[in-house]
Amino acid sequence: MSNIVAIVGRPNVGKSTLFNRLLERREAIVDSTAGVTRDRHYGKSDWNGVEFTVIDTGGYEVNTEDIFQEEITKQVQLAIDEATSIIFMLSVDEGLTDTDQEIFEMLRRSGKKVYIVVNKVDSATLEVAATEFYSLGIEKYYTMSSATGSGTGELLDDVVADF
Ligand code: GDP
Ligand code: MG
Repeated sequence: MSNIVAIVGRPNVGKSTLFNRLLERREAIVDSTAGVTRDRHYGKSDWNGVEFTVIDTGGYEVNTEDIFQEEITKQVQLAIDEATSIIFMLSVDEGLTDTDQEIFEMLRRSGKKVYIVVNKVDSATLEVAATEFYSLGIEKYYTMSSATGSGTGELLDDVVADF
């Protein structure tokens, strides 16, 4: 049985940046032609020798502010149906939004293993700002800068340990 990890969250939080980072090493080995897999939403990755499938969500529409709530909800539901683990990505630069709250409610009701990740934490100052997300009523979140890759190791250690 293969483990499937889905990355969900509202537009622009950095889901695809993390997805591409997770696939990077593997793609470099598998694909001899650069750039051919840019628009993929499924990919294989591994951490500490443990393989898993990654699903990127939300990439079908243009990244504009007027994405329909309905479309986000649909994609989160698909991820819940398909994935064994879910990475719920938030962004420290915009803080906690109504859409974030709605996605979180869906995930909580799903009973799936959910990893809450606050992205765009590019500096120590932003680690402090990230504490805002405790207002979700959670005990733990991961911070990350998917742009630089910092924080991804801590998250993946836990994700693969829980498979
Ligand atoms: P998605 O819509 O959730 O897939 O988000 P993208 O991965 O397309 O990223 C949206 C924007 O946020 C892009 O301009 C990224 O370069 C930027 N971004 C992603 N991760 C980070 C990060 O860790 N720090 C900062 N400062 N920007 C980021
Ligand atoms: Mg995307």
